[in-house]
Amino acid sequence: MFKRVLIANRGEIALRIIRACRELGIEPVCVYSSADAGGPWLEQAAQTVCIGPPPSKDSYLRIDRIIAAAEISHADAIHPGYGFLAENAHFADVCRDSGFEFIGPSPEAMSALGDKVNCKRLAKKAGTPIFPGTEGGIEDIDEAVQVAKDIGFPVIVKAAGGGGGRGMRIAQDEAGLRQGIEQARQEAAAAFGNPMVFVEKYLELARHFEVQVIGDKHGNAVHLYERDCSSQRRHQKLIEEAPAPGVDPAKREKVCESAAELIRQAKYSGAATCEFLMDRSQKFYMLEVNTRVQVEHPISEAITGVDIVQTGIRVAAGERLPYKQSDIRIHGHAMEFRINAEDPARNFMPQAGLVETWVAPGGPGIRLDSHVRAGYRVPTNYDSMVGKLIVHAPTREQCIRRSLGALAEFKVGPIKTTIPLYERLLREELFVNATHDIKYVERLLAAT
Ligand code: ADP
Repeated sequence: MFKRVLIANRGEIALRIIRACRELGIEPVCVYSSADAGGPWLEQAAQTVCIGPPPSKDSYLRIDRIIAAAEISHADAIHPGYGFLAENAHFADVCRDSGFEFIGPSPEAMSALGDKVNCKRLAKKAGTPIFPGTEGGIEDIDEAVQVAKDIGFPVIVKAAGGGGGRGMRIAQDEAGLRQGIEQARQEAAAAFGNPMVFVEKYLELARHFEVQVIGDKHGNAVHLYERDCSSQRRHQKLIEEAPAPGVDPAKREKVCESAAELIRQAKYSGAATCEFLMDRSQKFYMLEVNTRVQVEHPISEAITGVDIVQTGIRVAAGERLPYKQSDIRIHGHAMEFRINAEDPARNFMPQAGLVETWVAPGGPGIRLDSHVRAGYRVPTNYDSMVGKLIVHAPTREQCIRRSLGALAEFKVGPIKTTIPLYERLLREELFVNATHDIKYVERLLAAT
């Protein structure tokens, strides 16, 4: 096992990794930007190294400085967390070349799954359900038009190297498709340095269904069942829950097993998430694979009892997965609420500044993953998430009730947060009956 792990991240996920390291007897080392000097999570590290000024491009994204920090702190492995460099295969490669174990997949497996066109090809081989659409990237526009006519409009044009919702165009007809391909190519070339785009069926009124998977370096992989993340705004998840409500158990088993098979075939080690859209008839279509630990991993931990972050560290150190698929069972229901310092009443404007009041909820089934306390100043430089409230209960109905209690207990001020929005969403009929879809939050907000 590693002796010292350098955490190339900040905030709640840095703290989550620190806690996992501690339990494994590993000394955690944190890097930080000057905007994060004095950050509460840094107090829990064995050593801290400042790697630059506030902008992430000058600190948390500086590969050279992170490697230098790993050298001077005598770390033997680097954990990227999520965001920043977590899905950068070049970074994983540099870590390996510099003699540090990257806690995540090999750069080869990361690249293979990170490219959406290649990932779809692998998924097809593994039997993971994908969207109908063009085979591979578009070479000939007329061929793409023919494919779109065969599968039927609307279709969506997406970039092979895409991320963050960029480089996508929805097309309702042939003219829109021709134009969309041109635009998406240009956007993709500029944003990702790769102009390859592809076309797939566009699904309206879908639910977001994602499967947590984890593999080791010995060819083993299991799934930890799924999460439903349909409560979104501008493709950003707000509430996640596990398991996905109302899904046919046989269909669930099949799609979850196909996701595990995909990462097995990709020789993937570490935690990953296969994202799908699910239609009304509970047919699944894979969107992409995220090759890192995900923000919403705690709800899968809650229902399966597996510590995903610790397992990720263990497999990076060469250990075998400590459980078989048959050991993994679903216990109860869990929800996660992303507590963002944003004002929902003012188009979710980020709310940087001093947190004067921070009264956290507690009680059975309540977990709070947060780096914040009263007196903390939320910097303007990074994302606005100040914590994650995770609620676990025997049933979905009890989970909703327990969540309403916890959200009511949770007092944050004077900065505004998304807490009141969640109190409202938990009372929405569509959500309560699980008849919601990925656009319901936006429709609701637009209507009021
Ligand atoms: P990114 O890597 O940019 O996040 P994804 O492939 O994960 O791209 O898609 C982001 C979002 O775009 C999805 O969560 C979904 O809301 C929408 N989307 C992508 N593909 C489709 C599709 N075929 N049909 C409907 N919506 C889609």
